[in-house]
Amino acid sequence: MSYTPPSDPVNKVTNKTIKISQLCELCHSRKAVIKRPKNLQKICKLCFFHVFETEIHNTIVTNNLFYKGERVAVGASGGKDSTVLAHMLKYLNEKYNYGIEIVLLSIDEGIVGYRDDSLATVKRNQQQYQLPLEIVSFKELYNWTMDEIVATAGIRNSCTYCGVFRRQALDRGAEKLGIHHVITGHNADDMAETVLMNILRGDVARLEKSTAIITKSKGSPIKRSKPFKYSYQKEIVLYAHFKKLDYFSTECTYAPEAFRGTAREFMKNLESVRPSCIIDIIQSGENLVLKQKKVHTNGQQNSNKVAGGFVDGNRCTKCGYLSSNDICKACILLEGLERNRPSITLDNDSSVDGAARVMRQLEHMSF
Ligand code: SF4
Ligand SMILES: [Zn+2]
Ligand SMILES: [Zn+2]
Repeated sequence: MSYTPPSDPVNKVTNKTIKISQLCELCHSRKAVIKRPKNLQKICKLCFFHVFETEIHNTIVTNNLFYKGERVAVGASGGKDSTVLAHMLKYLNEKYNYGIEIVLLSIDEGIVGYRDDSLATVKRNQQQYQLPLEIVSFKELYNWTMDEIVATAGIRNSCTYCGVFRRQALDRGAEKLGIHHVITGHNADDMAETVLMNILRGDVARLEKSTAIITKSKGSPIKRSKPFKYSYQKEIVLYAHFKKLDYFSTECTYAPEAFRGTAREFMKNLESVRPSCIIDIIQSGENLVLKQKKVHTNGQQNSNKVAGGFVDGNRCTKCGYLSSNDICKACILLEGLERNRPSITLDNDSSVDGAARVMRQLEHMSF
């Protein structure tokens, strides 16, 4: 059987006869060109745009991510996730009248051959989307570039340094702009991967927070949200491809943490046999109810925690930035780096030990 679809006003396709079996499962009028990675539905390009955009809009509305008049900063790296995020927020903001003001906020970690090229993409995006752009660099904030950090502390913990510094840099950049909401392009794959890693590590404290769509660190007035929480990475790539978005696809020079890489690989294998596993893992994480922590009847441990701990609004005693700990995580890492700077040319192994020591110190801090 065959069918002649109505003309496609967007793509100006001539009315070619197509087999019924090739028709889009949603509109039943255009040819299916995509098998949706999320549910394997065969759909046309226009229906894909519509369902993908509507799902993200629904996530935003259901979770009350924005309020009218809110100024938000999109963490923009030039990669596919943040490029689609900037495009999508601008589009949905205009279509559904969210009434938000969007600013692009980029972090220059100082990785030659990677970040310098991806920042060039962000600058083009700024022109394409006509959005203001603010760039904050590790060098100006910490006097270290990631290249210098890796040369000193080794490649093994590069993502830990990078993650701690970037999180704080995004907060500082947002504060500089007077913005209290940073939106990131973390997608469903990233979230499922984090849930898996926390389960495999038995890290229940982090597990609790890992599926939240809005997070806020203790001591920081800046909240973070992830509108792509339920969006599959493959669909984000498809959307960017079909919309011909300008994004940067080179991988970072420094490989991701080995454990994360293994969890990612494991999840990709699961996804190939059961595509819904990504959403299933997220939902499992959301529905896990943790046992109540034991209450210490003599109150000793709790009172120590309060005495030594920090309440919201406290500041790092070294750099003065908001921190729930006495010294912020960035300053702890910086201390370790400064200690190791002179030893690097003499004994590279001892610098790795130093980095490992700093990591252990970090694990004992409250986040
Ligand atoms: S892969 Fe690691 S080092 Fe590279 S940008 Fe990401 S977090 Fe930073
Ligand atoms: Zn269709
Ligand atoms: Zn500090």
